[in-house]
Amino acid sequence: MLVSMDILSLYRETGAYLEGHFLLASGRHSPKFLQSTTVMQYPQHAEVIGKEIAKLFADTKADFVVGPAMGGIILAHTVAKALGCRALFAEKDGSGNMTLRDAFAIRPGERFIAVEDVITTGGSLKKAIAAAEHVGASCVGIGCIIERGLSQFPANLAPRALTTLNFPSFGPADCPLCQQGIPLEEV
Ligand SMILES: [Zn+2]
Repeated sequence: MLVSMDILSLYRETGAYLEGHFLLASGRHSPKFLQSTTVMQYPQHAEVIGKEIAKLFADTKADFVVGPAMGGIILAHTVAKALGCRALFAEKDGSGNMTLRDAFAIRPGERFIAVEDVITTGGSLKKAIAAAEHVGASCVGIGCIIERGLSQFPANLAPRALTTLNFPSFGPADCPLCQQGIPLEEV
């Protein structure tokens, strides 16, 4: 079993643990960023992470795992492989929501687990979940590599994470890094 420190070591060793001034997908700013893409480019790391997250759902019978594109695609795949179910991804649809391709052929009543590498506010994950629920499936779990503790999900869907981190993050209006004039990097 990977423990929290192993996960962070993996990010450090692969150069995925960034420090500076970053614009998160949630719109918030942060002095630190964990670039999961850098870790997940190594299939052996992606596989281990997928297996560890799958263990958190050993009690959950799921028909598929869904992740928001692009970051959630490989993670959904490795978690699904370990669980022995299908791997789907949700894509932005141009109106700010997410959608699933018809080719995934979801049947009403199917149960799914939603995954994302790092959950900050969980905004994209909520849209991916809405996309799958829209076609009649029901979310039975949320998994991630790292949870930053700012998400709000119903108690029965509290994210199961390999580790929890509480890096500071700020709204653009009250970001001390902006006030210091440090250039903002998009990640
Ligand atoms: Zn800032």
